[in-house]
Amino acid sequence: MKILFLDQSGKLGGAELSLTDVAKPYRETCLVCLFADGTFRELLEQNHIPVQVLATEPINVSKESGILDSLGSIRSIVSLIVKVTTLARNYELIYANTQKALVIGAFASFLSRRPLVYHLRDILSPDHFSSTNRRVAVTLANRFASLVITNSQATQAAFVEAGGRRELTHVVYNGFEPENYNIPDTDAHEIRQTLGLEGQFVIGHFSRLSPWKGQHILLESVAQCPKDITVILVGDALFGEEDYVKELHQTVTELGLKERVHFLGFRSDIVPLMKACNLIAHTSTAPEPFGRVIIEAMLCERPVVGTAAGGVIELIEPGKTGWLFPPGNSQKLAQIIMSCYQQPEQADAIAHHAKIQATQRFNLKTVNQQIAQLLSTIFRT
Ligand code: UDP
Repeated sequence: MKILFLDQSGKLGGAELSLTDVAKPYRETCLVCLFADGTFRELLEQNHIPVQVLATEPINVSKESGILDSLGSIRSIVSLIVKVTTLARNYELIYANTQKALVIGAFASFLSRRPLVYHLRDILSPDHFSSTNRRVAVTLANRFASLVITNSQATQAAFVEAGGRRELTHVVYNGFEPENYNIPDTDAHEIRQTLGLEGQFVIGHFSRLSPWKGQHILLESVAQCPKDITVILVGDALFGEEDYVKELHQTVTELGLKERVHFLGFRSDIVPLMKACNLIAHTSTAPEPFGRVIIEAMLCERPVVGTAAGGVIELIEPGKTGWLFPPGNSQKLAQIIMSCYQQPEQADAIAHHAKIQATQRFNLKTVNQQIAQLLSTIFRT
């Protein structure tokens, strides 16, 4: 099938990493169009997936601003729509991977008479989006999309609650290639050595640095724990959240954690870094649409704790494949950390069970078959 994928971002977030996996089977015939240049283009090129950057000006991708405000930062939205419409005539389907891609894709779909698929990877709730944003997304999806793929039941529910048509939606979880997570332990040892983490109980947090990703909650928890519990914060501020980064450094100083918290910035060697951890913490304070990091931790066979909200509830079975704590509750998180610290065998058994389950439930091969099947139904109706 000839698919024209659209994504607004040049940067590598969860949506972009997942799209790379979705696009792989179509690399011979598809094109991925980006509205900004960056490391995402490089990743697509490394994977031999055809990519074209359509806008050279960066788009303001702040989720708080209205979609239309952000789009206004492109010198000519019309020219973007024209470009996508022209390209779409050579493809069978337009596949919008982000909200701004949906806006451009909706108009291009109408003008080129190509069906539109919207892969919704956001929770359309007031926690994350202004009411204008939600209304625009839902109205365009309802009017123009033939299919809305949601990355969790939580994402689906929020779409419907915001006024989206349920009959358009199908839940498809992110897929992963389990074999990518089986690496020799020596790589993890090397990382521990390089970072001076030997003999420490290491908690890893893998996410862009952003207030709602809740890195500060983890810091508050760790301050309540013994001194040989150390944190690695992996990720950077992607969308202009530098003030939060400053606040995090300040919190580290105030809580006396300077020796125990390592800021590693954005890294592409996630697997050995996760393997170097004793526990992976996912601490979003607002509902997370999916939470790739949780499945990655499971596939690395590392114990994982996440917040009981959004899609995360669908990923972790408390006490069986990980632990859940109420969003923002650093005390409860500290208790879970302590139980993993004190009972490592139990934590390892849970991590082992989680790996087996994640390998089956989130296998990229199955997920891509599911998507292919859904796409084929569009042409049968
Ligand atoms: N990630 C990465 N390098 C980093 C931090 C994060 O490659 O330094 C990856 C992480 O492994 C995960 C993705 O970024 O695959 C984040 O996806 P998630 O669903 O957890 O959050 P999102 O970015 O979609 O909000």
